[in-house]
Amino acid sequence: MIFFGKKASVIRQEHIFGISCPSCQTNNSIHGAVVGNYGHLYWIPTIPMGRTIAAQCEHCRKTFDEKDMPSQLRDAIRPMMDEVKTPLKHFSGLFVIGGLFVLGIYTSINNDRDNLAFINDPAIGDVYEIKDAIRDYTTQKVIAVTDDSVYCAENQYSVNKVRGLAGIDQEKNYINTGIGYSRQELIKMLNADKITRVKRN
Ligand SMILES: [Zn+2]
Repeated sequence: MIFFGKKASVIRQEHIFGISCPSCQTNNSIHGAVVGNYGHLYWIPTIPMGRTIAAQCEHCRKTFDEKDMPSQLRDAIRPMMDEVKTPLKHFSGLFVIGGLFVLGIYTSINNDRDNLAFINDPAIGDVYEIKDAIRDYTTQKVIAVTDDSVYCAENQYSVNKVRGLAGIDQEKNYINTGIGYSRQELIKMLNADKITRVKRN
């Protein structure tokens, strides 16, 4: 479930002189404000949703939305709008999302580079995470490396979610079934996402 909602905060406020309250007629009692509306995602302001003006009388405490204001009051407060910008903090969620996105890309590029490096220079003990159409996800562990081939022990178990692999990657689960791959085969499997990750300890 995603929590999205709308909120508002006062961006700027000041006393408005030369105007009397439309409700109690007290002179110079009006406080004007510019209000920034924003959409928030999990309570982090994310999308600015426009600005409005508001006013409150310090004497009778009555509040006025832009639509309730007599034109004289509206005209006195409106210029405040031109003096303020939408605060950057109303976008903060976008910065968070952008940051996570960049981090995600960076991590993914890093992983791809490591995976290829490990495939090109295999070592005994490397664990290949394998996506198999029939068995879903499983692992194989490198047990021997020759000039042109890599031999693996197969995990007896498979899981249907990638994050379950950590639970089955245990020494006692591996059986030597004599499976072997040429170096070229391994690169093909990596490129086809049949090998999704190479783990090296
Ligand atoms: Zn008043």
